[in-house]
Amino acid sequence: MDFSDRIQRVEPSATLAISNLAAELEAEGADVVDLSVGEPDFPTPENVVEAGQEAMDAGHTGYTSSNGIARLREAIAEKLRGDGLDYEAGNVIVTPGAKQALYEAVQTLVDDGDEVVLLDPAWVSYEAMVKLAGGDLDRVDLSPYDFQLEPALDELGEAISDETELLVVNSPSNPTGAVYSDAALEGVRDLAVEHDVTVISDEIYQQITYGAEPTSLGTFDGMADRTVTINGFSKAYSMTGWRLGYLAGPEELISEAGKLHSHSVSCATNFVQHAGVEALRNTDDAIEEMVEAFAERREFLLERLGEEGVEAPEPDGAFYLMMPVADDDQTWCEDALEEAHVATVPGSAFGAPGYARISYANSKERIGEAVDRLVDAGLL
Ligand code: PMP
Ligand code: GLU
Repeated sequence: MDFSDRIQRVEPSATLAISNLAAELEAEGADVVDLSVGEPDFPTPENVVEAGQEAMDAGHTGYTSSNGIARLREAIAEKLRGDGLDYEAGNVIVTPGAKQALYEAVQTLVDDGDEVVLLDPAWVSYEAMVKLAGGDLDRVDLSPYDFQLEPALDELGEAISDETELLVVNSPSNPTGAVYSDAALEGVRDLAVEHDVTVISDEIYQQITYGAEPTSLGTFDGMADRTVTINGFSKAYSMTGWRLGYLAGPEELISEAGKLHSHSVSCATNFVQHAGVEALRNTDDAIEEMVEAFAERREFLLERLGEEGVEAPEPDGAFYLMMPVADDDQTWCEDALEEAHVATVPGSAFGAPGYARISYANSKERIGEAVDRLVDAGLL
Protein backbone atom coordinates (compact mmCIF):
# COMPACT_ATOMS: atom_id res chain seq x y z
CA MET A 1 0.00 0.00 0.00
CA ASP A 2 1.19 3.51 -0.72
CA PHE A 3 0.79 5.61 2.41
CA SER A 4 0.42 9.38 2.35
CA ASP A 5 3.41 11.60 3.10
CA ARG A 6 1.19 13.27 5.66
CA ILE A 7 0.68 10.16 7.81
CA GLN A 8 4.34 9.18 7.53
CA ARG A 9 5.39 12.48 9.08
CA VAL A 10 4.06 11.48 12.51
CA GLU A 11 4.57 8.84 15.18
CA PRO A 12 1.86 7.32 17.41
CA SER A 13 1.06 9.27 20.61
CA ALA A 14 3.91 8.60 23.08
CA THR A 15 1.65 9.05 26.11
CA LEU A 16 -0.85 6.50 24.87
CA ALA A 17 1.93 4.15 23.65
CA ILE A 18 3.49 3.94 27.11
CA SER A 19 0.22 3.40 28.87
CA ASN A 20 -0.53 0.60 26.36
CA LEU A 21 2.85 -0.94 27.19
CA ALA A 22 2.09 -0.74 30.91
CA ALA A 23 -1.30 -2.40 30.29
CA GLU A 24 0.43 -5.21 28.35
CA LEU A 25 2.87 -5.83 31.21
CA GLU A 26 -0.08 -5.92 33.62
CA ALA A 27 -1.89 -8.40 31.40
CA GLU A 28 1.21 -10.63 31.73
CA GLY A 29 0.73 -10.50 35.50
CA ALA A 30 3.14 -7.69 36.50
CA ASP A 31 2.05 -5.18 39.14
CA VAL A 32 2.73 -1.91 37.31
CA VAL A 33 2.32 1.51 38.93
CA ASP A 34 1.09 3.50 35.96
CA LEU A 35 2.06 7.15 36.30
CA SER A 36 2.12 7.63 32.55
CA VAL A 37 -1.22 8.56 31.05
CA GLY A 38 -2.99 11.75 32.07
CA GLU A 39 -6.28 10.35 33.23
CA PRO A 40 -8.08 11.14 36.50
CA ASP A 41 -8.57 7.96 38.54
CA PHE A 42 -12.00 8.99 39.89
CA PRO A 43 -15.32 7.72 38.60
CA THR A 44 -17.39 10.21 36.58
CA PRO A 45 -19.71 12.02 39.06
CA GLU A 46 -22.86 9.96 39.59
CA ASN A 47 -25.32 12.66 38.55
CA VAL A 48 -23.50 12.98 35.21
CA VAL A 49 -23.68 9.21 34.62
CA GLU A 50 -27.40 9.32 35.46
CA ALA A 51 -27.97 12.21 33.06
CA GLY A 52 -26.30 10.16 30.31
CA GLN A 53 -28.43 7.11 31.13
CA GLU A 54 -31.62 9.17 31.23
CA ALA A 55 -30.77 10.73 27.88
CA MET A 56 -30.30 7.27 26.39
CA ASP A 57 -33.58 6.06 27.89
CA ALA A 58 -35.30 9.14 26.50
CA GLY A 59 -34.15 8.13 23.03
CA HIS A 60 -31.39 10.69 22.48
CA THR A 61 -29.48 8.20 20.39
CA GLY A 62 -29.56 9.68 16.89
CA TYR A 63 -27.35 12.26 15.21
CA THR A 64 -27.53 15.77 16.62
CA SER A 65 -27.03 18.98 14.70
CA SER A 66 -23.41 18.89 13.63
CA ASN A 67 -22.03 21.56 15.94
CA GLY A 68 -23.84 20.13 18.97
CA ILE A 69 -27.20 20.29 20.75
CA ALA A 70 -28.38 23.82 21.50
CA ARG A 71 -28.67 23.14 25.25
CA LEU A 72 -25.02 22.16 25.53
CA ARG A 73 -23.70 24.90 23.28
CA GLU A 74 -25.62 27.42 25.37
CA ALA A 75 -24.30 25.92 28.62
CA ILE A 76 -20.74 26.05 27.26
CA ALA A 77 -21.15 29.68 26.14
CA GLU A 78 -22.53 30.52 29.59
CA LYS A 79 -19.52 28.87 31.26
CA LEU A 80 -17.15 30.77 28.97
CA ARG A 81 -18.93 34.07 29.67
CA GLY A 82 -18.30 33.29 33.35
CA ASP A 83 -14.58 33.24 32.48
CA GLY A 84 -14.94 36.69 30.88
CA LEU A 85 -15.16 35.52 27.25
CA ASP A 86 -17.84 37.10 25.09
CA TYR A 87 -19.22 33.95 23.42
CA GLU A 88 -22.72 32.83 22.40
CA ALA A 89 -23.86 29.33 21.41
CA GLY A 90 -22.99 30.19 17.79
CA ASN A 91 -19.33 30.54 18.76
CA VAL A 92 -19.06 26.91 19.87
CA ILE A 93 -18.48 23.52 18.20
CA VAL A 94 -18.95 20.46 20.44
CA THR A 95 -16.46 17.72 19.58
CA PRO A 96 -15.71 14.12 20.61
CA GLY A 97 -12.92 15.17 23.00
CA ALA A 98 -10.76 18.29 23.10
CA LYS A 99 -8.26 16.45 20.91
CA GLN A 100 -10.70 16.56 18.00
CA ALA A 101 -11.37 20.27 18.72
CA LEU A 102 -7.62 20.95 18.49
CA TYR A 103 -7.30 18.87 15.35
CA GLU A 104 -10.13 20.78 13.66
CA ALA A 105 -8.69 24.14 14.72
CA VAL A 106 -5.22 23.30 13.38
CA GLN A 107 -6.58 21.90 10.10
CA THR A 108 -8.70 25.01 9.66
CA LEU A 109 -5.88 27.48 10.30
CA VAL A 110 -2.65 25.92 9.05
CA ASP A 111 -1.60 25.54 5.41
CA ASP A 112 1.45 23.74 3.97
CA GLY A 113 4.56 25.66 5.00
CA ASP A 114 2.82 27.87 7.58
CA GLU A 115 4.86 28.58 10.68
CA VAL A 116 3.47 27.44 14.04
CA VAL A 117 5.12 28.27 17.36
CA LEU A 118 4.99 25.84 20.31
CA LEU A 119 6.15 26.40 23.88
CA ASP A 120 8.30 23.47 24.93
CA PRO A 121 7.80 21.22 26.76
CA ALA A 122 4.54 20.81 24.86
CA TRP A 123 1.90 18.10 24.89
CA VAL A 124 2.76 15.43 22.33
CA SER A 125 -0.20 15.84 20.00
CA TYR A 126 0.35 19.51 19.06
CA GLU A 127 3.43 18.65 17.03
CA ALA A 128 1.69 15.76 15.29
CA MET A 129 -1.37 17.86 14.47
CA VAL A 130 0.76 20.64 12.96
CA LYS A 131 2.76 18.14 10.91
CA LEU A 132 -0.41 16.50 9.62
CA ALA A 133 -1.55 19.94 8.46
CA GLY A 134 1.80 20.52 6.72
CA GLY A 135 2.91 23.33 9.03
CA ASP A 136 6.51 24.07 10.06
CA LEU A 137 7.33 24.13 13.76
CA ASP A 138 9.28 26.73 15.65
CA ARG A 139 9.80 25.88 19.33
CA VAL A 140 10.59 28.07 22.31
CA ASP A 141 12.15 26.16 25.21
CA LEU A 142 10.83 27.07 28.66
CA SER A 143 12.95 24.40 30.41
CA PRO A 144 15.71 26.84 31.48
CA TYR A 145 13.06 28.95 33.28
CA ASP A 146 11.46 26.28 35.47
CA PHE A 147 8.88 26.01 32.67
CA GLN A 148 7.56 29.55 33.19
CA LEU A 149 6.67 31.71 30.21
CA GLU A 150 7.25 35.21 31.58
CA PRO A 151 11.07 34.96 31.65
CA ALA A 152 11.03 33.55 28.09
CA LEU A 153 9.04 36.37 26.49
CA ASP A 154 12.12 37.81 24.76
CA GLU A 155 12.79 34.43 23.19
CA LEU A 156 9.16 34.13 22.18
CA GLY A 157 9.49 37.59 20.62
CA GLU A 158 12.42 36.30 18.56
CA ALA A 159 10.45 33.25 17.43
CA ILE A 160 7.31 35.14 16.40
CA SER A 161 7.39 37.20 13.22
CA ASP A 162 4.95 38.38 10.55
CA GLU A 163 5.47 34.93 9.00
CA THR A 164 3.96 33.21 12.06
CA GLU A 165 0.47 31.86 11.51
CA LEU A 166 -0.32 30.25 14.83
CA LEU A 167 0.88 30.00 18.44
CA VAL A 168 -0.33 27.29 20.81
CA VAL A 169 -0.58 28.15 24.53
CA ASN A 170 -1.55 25.54 27.12
CA SER A 171 -1.99 26.80 30.68
CA PRO A 172 -2.12 24.95 33.06
CA SER A 173 0.39 23.02 31.01
CA ASN A 174 0.64 19.38 30.14
CA PRO A 175 3.37 18.15 30.83
CA THR A 176 4.78 20.75 33.27
CA GLY A 177 1.79 21.85 35.37
CA ALA A 178 2.94 25.47 34.91
CA VAL A 179 0.24 28.15 35.09
CA TYR A 180 1.30 31.23 33.12
CA SER A 181 1.05 34.61 34.84
CA ASP A 182 -1.14 37.43 33.53
CA ALA A 183 2.04 39.34 32.68
CA ALA A 184 3.17 36.42 30.51
CA LEU A 185 -0.20 36.27 28.76
CA GLU A 186 -0.12 40.04 28.20
CA GLY A 187 3.27 39.50 26.56
CA VAL A 188 1.69 36.86 24.32
CA ARG A 189 -1.11 39.30 23.47
CA ASP A 190 1.33 42.07 22.54
CA LEU A 191 3.22 39.77 20.17
CA ALA A 192 0.06 38.23 18.69
CA VAL A 193 -1.44 41.65 17.97
CA GLU A 194 1.81 43.10 16.62
CA HIS A 195 2.35 40.22 14.19
CA ASP A 196 -1.29 39.34 13.50
CA VAL A 197 -1.00 35.81 14.87
CA THR A 198 -3.88 33.48 15.79
CA VAL A 199 -3.53 31.77 19.18
CA ILE A 200 -4.97 28.46 20.30
CA SER A 201 -5.51 28.56 24.06
CA ASP A 202 -5.87 25.00 25.35
CA GLU A 203 -7.50 25.40 28.75
CA ILE A 204 -8.40 21.77 29.45
CA TYR A 205 -6.73 21.85 32.90
CA GLN A 206 -8.22 25.24 33.84
CA GLN A 207 -10.18 23.93 36.83
CA ILE A 208 -7.31 21.87 38.26
CA THR A 209 -5.05 24.38 40.01
CA TYR A 210 -3.38 24.76 43.40
CA GLY A 211 -3.61 28.39 44.42
CA ALA A 212 -2.90 29.85 40.97
CA GLU A 213 -5.77 31.41 38.97
CA PRO A 214 -5.31 31.00 35.23
CA THR A 215 -6.79 33.81 33.10
CA SER A 216 -8.42 32.88 29.82
CA LEU A 217 -6.27 34.25 26.99
CA GLY A 218 -9.24 35.42 24.91
CA THR A 219 -10.20 37.92 27.64
CA PHE A 220 -7.16 40.14 27.02
CA ASP A 221 -7.75 43.28 24.94
CA GLY A 222 -7.22 42.52 21.27
CA MET A 223 -7.45 38.74 21.71
CA ALA A 224 -11.17 37.99 21.25
CA ASP A 225 -10.93 37.91 17.44
CA ARG A 226 -7.70 35.96 17.27
CA THR A 227 -8.13 33.31 19.98
CA VAL A 228 -9.49 29.79 19.67
CA THR A 229 -10.41 28.57 23.15
CA ILE A 230 -10.23 24.81 23.66
CA ASN A 231 -11.65 22.96 26.61
CA GLY A 232 -13.24 19.63 27.43
CA PHE A 233 -14.81 17.34 29.97
CA SER A 234 -12.12 14.63 30.28
CA LYS A 235 -10.05 16.11 33.06
CA ALA A 236 -12.19 18.34 35.31
CA TYR A 237 -15.17 15.95 35.32
CA SER A 238 -13.21 12.70 34.98
CA MET A 239 -14.94 11.87 31.69
CA THR A 240 -12.03 10.71 29.51
CA GLY A 241 -13.90 7.80 27.91
CA TRP A 242 -17.06 9.77 27.17
CA ARG A 243 -15.12 11.78 24.56
CA LEU A 244 -16.51 15.29 24.91
CA GLY A 245 -14.82 18.63 24.31
CA TYR A 246 -15.25 21.85 22.41
CA LEU A 247 -13.70 24.74 20.58
CA ALA A 248 -14.94 28.30 20.80
CA GLY A 249 -13.98 31.27 18.67
CA PRO A 250 -15.13 33.94 16.23
CA GLU A 251 -18.15 32.94 14.11
CA GLU A 252 -16.17 32.84 10.86
CA LEU A 253 -13.79 30.29 12.39
CA ILE A 254 -16.76 28.22 13.59
CA SER A 255 -18.22 28.26 10.12
CA GLU A 256 -14.94 27.13 8.49
CA ALA A 257 -14.06 24.51 11.14
CA GLY A 258 -17.69 23.33 11.06
CA LYS A 259 -17.11 22.08 7.51
CA LEU A 260 -14.37 19.69 8.65
CA HIS A 261 -16.46 18.71 11.67
CA SER A 262 -19.46 17.83 9.49
CA HIS A 263 -17.36 15.84 7.02
CA SER A 264 -15.41 13.91 9.68
CA VAL A 265 -17.19 13.15 12.97
CA SER A 266 -20.67 14.47 11.99
CA CYS A 267 -21.37 15.30 15.65
CA ALA A 268 -20.39 14.32 19.18
CA THR A 269 -22.38 11.42 20.69
CA ASN A 270 -25.94 12.52 21.39
CA PHE A 271 -26.55 11.25 24.97
CA VAL A 272 -23.00 12.21 25.96
CA GLN A 273 -23.81 15.81 25.05
CA HIS A 274 -26.82 15.69 27.40
CA ALA A 275 -24.55 14.42 30.20
CA GLY A 276 -22.22 17.34 29.39
CA VAL A 277 -24.94 19.84 30.32
CA GLU A 278 -25.25 18.21 33.75
CA ALA A 279 -21.45 18.22 34.16
CA LEU A 280 -21.28 21.95 33.47
CA ARG A 281 -24.21 22.86 35.71
CA ASN A 282 -24.07 20.54 38.75
CA THR A 283 -20.61 19.29 39.62
CA ASP A 284 -18.94 22.04 41.67
CA ASP A 285 -18.63 19.83 44.78
CA ALA A 286 -17.29 16.86 42.84
CA ILE A 287 -14.63 19.02 41.16
CA GLU A 288 -13.61 20.50 44.48
CA GLU A 289 -13.18 17.01 45.97
CA MET A 290 -11.07 15.80 43.05
CA VAL A 291 -8.87 18.90 43.07
CA GLU A 292 -8.35 18.53 46.83
CA ALA A 293 -7.24 14.94 46.31
CA PHE A 294 -4.84 15.98 43.51
CA ALA A 295 -3.46 18.73 45.76
CA GLU A 296 -2.71 16.23 48.55
CA ARG A 297 -1.00 13.85 46.14
CA ARG A 298 1.03 16.68 44.66
CA GLU A 299 2.26 17.67 48.15
CA PHE A 300 3.04 14.07 48.97
CA LEU A 301 4.95 13.45 45.74
CA LEU A 302 7.00 16.65 46.11
CA GLU A 303 7.81 15.70 49.70
CA ARG A 304 8.86 12.14 48.84
CA LEU A 305 10.99 13.32 45.93
CA GLY A 306 12.55 15.99 48.17
CA GLU A 307 13.49 13.26 50.67
CA GLU A 308 15.31 11.46 47.87
CA GLY A 309 17.16 14.62 46.87
CA VAL A 310 15.17 15.13 43.65
CA GLU A 311 14.31 18.77 43.01
CA ALA A 312 11.44 19.14 40.58
CA PRO A 313 9.86 22.49 39.65
CA GLU A 314 6.60 22.81 41.62
CA PRO A 315 3.56 22.53 39.37
CA ASP A 316 0.67 24.97 39.99
CA GLY A 317 -1.93 23.10 38.00
CA ALA A 318 -2.96 19.93 36.10
CA PHE A 319 -1.77 16.63 37.63
CA TYR A 320 1.69 16.34 36.12
CA LEU A 321 5.18 16.93 37.38
CA MET A 322 8.38 16.98 35.36
CA MET A 323 11.05 15.09 37.28
CA PRO A 324 14.69 15.59 36.32
CA VAL A 325 16.18 12.15 35.53
CA ALA A 326 19.16 11.06 33.41
CA ASP A 327 20.29 12.85 30.21
CA ASP A 328 18.99 9.82 28.35
CA ASP A 329 15.44 10.04 29.63
CA GLN A 330 14.21 7.44 27.13
CA THR A 331 16.49 4.75 28.62
CA TRP A 332 15.66 5.90 32.16
CA CYS A 333 11.92 5.47 31.48
CA GLU A 334 12.49 2.06 29.87
CA ASP A 335 14.51 0.97 32.91
CA ALA A 336 11.86 2.33 35.27
CA LEU A 337 9.21 0.29 33.50
CA GLU A 338 11.23 -2.90 33.12
CA GLU A 339 13.14 -2.93 36.43
CA ALA A 340 10.75 -1.13 38.79
CA HIS A 341 7.45 -1.63 36.95
CA VAL A 342 6.80 2.11 37.16
CA ALA A 343 5.42 3.72 33.99
CA THR A 344 6.33 7.36 33.24
CA VAL A 345 6.67 9.30 29.97
CA PRO A 346 10.11 10.42 28.69
CA GLY A 347 10.46 14.21 28.67
CA SER A 348 11.89 14.06 25.16
CA ALA A 349 8.43 13.11 23.89
CA PHE A 350 7.42 16.65 24.92
CA GLY A 351 10.62 18.36 23.78
CA ALA A 352 12.24 18.23 27.25
CA PRO A 353 15.05 15.67 27.31
CA GLY A 354 16.45 14.85 30.75
CA TYR A 355 13.02 14.69 32.42
CA ALA A 356 10.32 12.13 32.99
CA ARG A 357 6.70 13.19 33.23
CA ILE A 358 4.86 11.81 36.23
CA SER A 359 1.09 11.86 36.28
CA TYR A 360 0.04 11.89 39.94
CA ALA A 361 -3.56 11.00 39.11
CA ASN A 362 -3.06 7.92 41.29
CA SER A 363 -3.49 7.10 44.98
CA LYS A 364 -0.90 8.26 47.54
CA GLU A 365 -0.14 4.61 48.31
CA ARG A 366 0.70 3.87 44.68
CA ILE A 367 2.68 7.09 44.27
CA GLY A 368 4.68 6.20 47.42
CA GLU A 369 5.15 2.65 46.11
CA ALA A 370 6.46 4.05 42.80
CA VAL A 371 9.05 6.27 44.52
CA ASP A 372 10.17 3.37 46.77
CA ARG A 373 10.59 1.08 43.77
CA LEU A 374 12.57 3.69 41.80
CA VAL A 375 14.86 4.17 44.81
CA ASP A 376 15.31 0.39 45.23
CA ALA A 377 16.15 0.05 41.54
CA GLY A 378 18.84 2.74 41.91
CA LEU A 379 16.98 5.05 39.52
CA LEU A 380 16.52 7.90 42.05
N1 PMP B 1 -5.06 19.02 25.55
C1 PMP B 1 -4.20 18.60 26.48
C2 PMP B 1 -3.14 19.52 26.94
C3 PMP B 1 -4.32 17.31 27.02
O1 PMP B 1 -3.46 16.90 27.94
C4 PMP B 1 -5.33 16.45 26.55
C5 PMP B 1 -5.37 15.08 27.16
N2 PMP B 1 -5.67 14.06 26.41
C6 PMP B 1 -6.19 16.95 25.57
C7 PMP B 1 -6.04 18.23 25.10
C8 PMP B 1 -7.28 16.13 24.95
O2 PMP B 1 -8.20 15.64 25.86
P1 PMP B 1 -9.53 14.93 25.42
O3 PMP B 1 -9.46 14.63 23.97
O4 PMP B 1 -9.62 13.70 26.26
O5 PMP B 1 -10.64 15.91 25.72
N1 GLU C 1 -3.48 14.01 27.48
C1 GLU C 1 -3.24 12.84 28.27
C2 GLU C 1 -1.75 12.62 28.43
O1 GLU C 1 -0.98 13.44 28.02
C3 GLU C 1 -3.95 11.63 27.70
C4 GLU C 1 -3.24 10.91 26.58
C5 GLU C 1 -3.21 11.70 25.33
O2 GLU C 1 -4.27 12.00 24.83
O3 GLU C 1 -2.10 12.04 24.92
O4 GLU C 1 -1.34 11.65 28.99
